[in-house]
Amino acid sequence: MTGPVKTYVVGGAVRDALLGFPVKDRDYVVVGATPDQMRAQGFLPVGKDFPVFLHPDTHEEYALARTERKTAPGYTGFSFHASPDVTLEQDLLRRDLTINAIAQDIDGSLIDPYGGRADLDARVFRHVSAAFAEDPVRILRVARFAARFTEFSVAEETLSLMRQMVASGEVDALVPERVWQELSRGLMEAKPSRMFMVLRDAGALARILPEIVALDGVPQPAQHHPEIDTLVHVMMVIDTAARQSASLAVRFAALVHDLGKGTTSTEQWPQHIAHEARSVTLVEALCERLKIPGEVRDLAVMTAREHGNVGRALEMRADTLVKMLERCDAFRKPARFMDLLLASECDARGRTGFEERPFPQRAFLQTVLAAAQSIAAGEIAAAVSAAHPDKPADAIAQAIRAARVAAVAAVMPHKKADPHH
Ligand code: ATP
Ligand code: MG
Repeated sequence: MTGPVKTYVVGGAVRDALLGFPVKDRDYVVVGATPDQMRAQGFLPVGKDFPVFLHPDTHEEYALARTERKTAPGYTGFSFHASPDVTLEQDLLRRDLTINAIAQDIDGSLIDPYGGRADLDARVFRHVSAAFAEDPVRILRVARFAARFTEFSVAEETLSLMRQMVASGEVDALVPERVWQELSRGLMEAKPSRMFMVLRDAGALARILPEIVALDGVPQPAQHHPEIDTLVHVMMVIDTAARQSASLAVRFAALVHDLGKGTTSTEQWPQHIAHEARSVTLVEALCERLKIPGEVRDLAVMTAREHGNVGRALEMRADTLVKMLERCDAFRKPARFMDLLLASECDARGRTGFEERPFPQRAFLQTVLAAAQSIAAGEIAAAVSAAHPDKPADAIAQAIRAARVAAVAAVMPHKKADPHH
């Protein structure tokens, strides 16, 4: 070993501190060390491919300075060169964006060979070098950062490089797990619509989520949708969900609830009769393709199917409401039903000028569920099976439903006033 070993903080921690954002986790780069030296000091190697270690006490990540070389399409096709003679500048050069390629040494001074500070000040995402094109995950990362850092825009030269990457088919080599990992993170940021707009501008959205691109320019009735365009609407819905600090499942459901409007025949425009059923089919296929977790998928499918019904809930009869609760498995999964209501509220408010409109359907359906849950199912079952010892199962189900319908009717003042409605 020759030169001294030096350690720097790099990447997101330096960026976020300079922006005045809270720093979550710190990544370090170590220059001048060998893996053996790291192990000798108690660092724990992470995986076998990456020269990355965990600090024995803090468990923070320490990566040996490395260079990368592309060996095959997709993001797995990399070979790493980590050795004590790799410099800090070489390591920073392989990073995605200039704002992520700033290092800070122990006494706080910045090492910023690629102009990261200037781009931070100018609020610009700019790639560090042409090697950006070697990893399509970087397109997803830039899009995700756009959803988080809402004042930033993508440098023109970076956008055109991303377009070239898409045109060369690089994005098609992304594995579904990695796409979902980045998309789900971006959905959880402050303004998720910005991720989709960056992906669209780069041409990547058409490769990853063609179902969303299909909504672009599809008109909706102006009375209910002053924003008209379905893609505009859907982007407003996901940003509404983000403002409500909604869960990932709710945000994803918001994203895909109207996919069926992308396959409405143009003669039907701007009406979208039965788009809910088409949405369900498209959502199921999309979730399969991107290997989206079951819980996230289930809420998305339910929201695609039911969002129109939730919107019409105030006009429904008690037995129709109870059937909806049964279809949604709301008695066994009440929390998921609440998520459906939240996603539907975001749908209703994600429209130009409707942002602050009340959505009484949500509180109403909560009351409806509580009423239907309040019946004494056990007592009803016992009484019915005593009276019909021959064929109890059907009779019990009927009696329970009747009791639920009666309980729901009792919390519907607008219905009681007009029994013939
Ligand atoms: P976050 O706040 O989401 O953690 P981050 O920038 O810290 O953002 P990490 O995934 O933690 O992102 O990665 C740490 C650093 O490693 C990045 O700042 C960047 O310098 C570099 N990096 C990570 N992934 C890539 C990639 N695919 N290509 C190039 N550089 C990358
Ligand atoms: Mg990080």
